Amino acid sequence: GYSAFGAVGPASMTPAPVAPMRERPVVVVSGGARGIGAATADRLAADGAHVIVLDRDIGALPEGREGHVLDVTDEAALASIIDQIAAQHGRIDVLVNNAAIADDFRPTTEQTLAAFERGLAINLVAPLRLATAAARVMRTQGGGAIINLSSIAARGGLPRRGSYCAAKAGVEALTRQLACEWAQHGVRVNAVAPGYIATPGVMALEAQGKRSLRGIRRRIPLGRLGQPEEIADAVAFLASSRAAYMTGAVVPVDGGWSAFG
Ligand code: NDP
Repeated sequence: GYSAFGAVGPASMTPAPVAPMRERPVVVVSGGARGIGAATADRLAADGAHVIVLDRDIGALPEGREGHVLDVTDEAALASIIDQIAAQHGRIDVLVNNAAIADDFRPTTEQTLAAFERGLAINLVAPLRLATAAARVMRTQGGGAIINLSSIAARGGLPRRGSYCAAKAGVEALTRQLACEWAQHGVRVNAVAPGYIATPGVMALEAQGKRSLRGIRRRIPLGRLGQPEEIADAVAFLASSRAAYMTGAVVPVDGGWSAFG
């Protein structure tokens, strides 16, 4: 009969195969050279994964960490690096779609369309391209896990955030769509939506007078900013076979920000 999940019959009668996590999974982390991405790379490496970082600058990676210089908006380079990783390691078990920018704080009426589109290219289109390239490898090996970094910006309006909110809302929609499409191939797709995390970038907002962290802390039920490691833990869980029955989920890790009405 007809199934929204492809020509495999009703989803309830054909459970998707879920490959158990291998002993030394091959993990790709975009934007893994600093911030949340670096903490995630460290967490997964400590859990026993072989971690490969893709970033614009990989000069300061910890010793022994594999890294490739990549601007995620460079479509040809992205495809060739994923091919190279698949050829060298034979598989890709996990992709963490983490690279993003949030550097435009102009009022929307003063923002150029080019700046808006650049935000979408990095924060929404590039994660789709990376996911698609990685999923091609994952389906040939019987499965894998993709974790996209969203944000509280996907669901709550933040002023002067250019295309960031729209891109992150798109990331959450994409997470659900790809989860439904790729479940039959054993590829799980989930997202983590961080609240304010004490990365150097966020701390600099206060120094630059762009955000008052005091006001933000008051708005967070747990009363503090999160640590990059607390996001990394959620990503590591979603990447593991302990999350084998989770796909299409968006997990808030925000100290209660999104629970607070
Ligand atoms: P950072 O800015 O600290 O790190 C992002 C990394 O991605 C940097 O190394 C950056 O490189 C890289 N990157 C940016 N653009 C590209 C590109 N075009 N190609 C390749 N690499 C690129 O970000 P965070 O650690 O703060 O955030 C990580 C993720 O978590 C993002 O998706 C962000 O939206 C999300 N998030 C973060 C929150 C926070 O409070 N920090 C809150 C909610 C969500 P470069 O140094 O060259 O810019």
